[in-house]
Amino acid sequence: MVLADLGRKLNAALSSLNRAPVVDDKVLDALLKEVCAALLESDVNVKLVAQLRQKVKTKVKAALESGADKGKEQNRRHVVQKAVFDELVQLVDPGVEPYKPKKGHPNVIMAVGLQGNGKTTTCTKLAVYYQRRGFKSCIVCADTFRAGAFDQTRQSATKAKVAYFGSYTETDPVTIAAQGVAKFKKERFDVIIVDTSGRHKQESELFREMVQIGEAVQPDQTVMVLDASIGQAAEAQARAFKESANFGAIIVTKMDGHAKGGGAISAVAATKTPIIFLGVGEHLHDLDKFSPQPFISKLLG
Ligand code: GDP
Repeated sequence: MVLADLGRKLNAALSSLNRAPVVDDKVLDALLKEVCAALLESDVNVKLVAQLRQKVKTKVKAALESGADKGKEQNRRHVVQKAVFDELVQLVDPGVEPYKPKKGHPNVIMAVGLQGNGKTTTCTKLAVYYQRRGFKSCIVCADTFRAGAFDQTRQSATKAKVAYFGSYTETDPVTIAAQGVAKFKKERFDVIIVDTSGRHKQESELFREMVQIGEAVQPDQTVMVLDASIGQAAEAQARAFKESANFGAIIVTKMDGHAKGGGAISAVAATKTPIIFLGVGEHLHDLDKFSPQPFISKLLG
């Protein structure tokens, strides 16, 4: 089920409360059944869904038992709706503040993620995002594995009018990353985005390379770029990257397509890492800032 459908189903389940004459345990159970089914269909991890169900029940019970206007129907409805809303927000909020780039400081952001997830596109989008907000931004292409990676960076950075660095001859990505970051730091750039390789002959080599680049450039923030369209696989992928790259933020791409999104939501909980942006298209400006509460409000329409 795509995200828009999830929103519709959640909304329908919540508004069914308004039609029930009495919000008793049976109505609450029926509501939770609908909410949980919708989340599961969207690829949200089964354990997270079970937790949400339990937490809503506990919250509702506690609120109704302690409420001053206990028993009033309007109050019961509100308590249930709020508990469901709050727990949906919790699903996408690990309670961790992401790093915020500061002006007048060379903020180094390293992007990691498997090839095809949209990493290179996202690096340019990020550079454009910060550039528009007055940060002098640039991109370092440290992907020497994929033929054409530097060309892709060069083309998209040129189109976006963003400075870039890379090499057609140097084969060591760690050297390129270090050189690029050193050059841009010297030139007083505010946001230096390092694009890394997303594929290798062996996964272990990819992870080793990520660690080495990280050691060389000492990023202020490592961002995992995660493709929403891979469904449940997103969670395992994020866990594997977290172990090696210990990223501090997630950008979920391709949220505009037919992605279910629930896999990416589960990745947040599995890695206790906040989502900071959503990729919502192939164009340079198709990047939306992410905040848990507005996201859930919008989802519910
Ligand atoms: P990389 O291999 O991870 O660097 O991935 P690329 O940046 O080359 O992107 C792979 C494909 O995904 C390209 O065709 C991009 O245009 C596309 N892409 C990236 N982000 C988004 C997005 O948010 N929405 C859509 N629809 N496509 C995207």
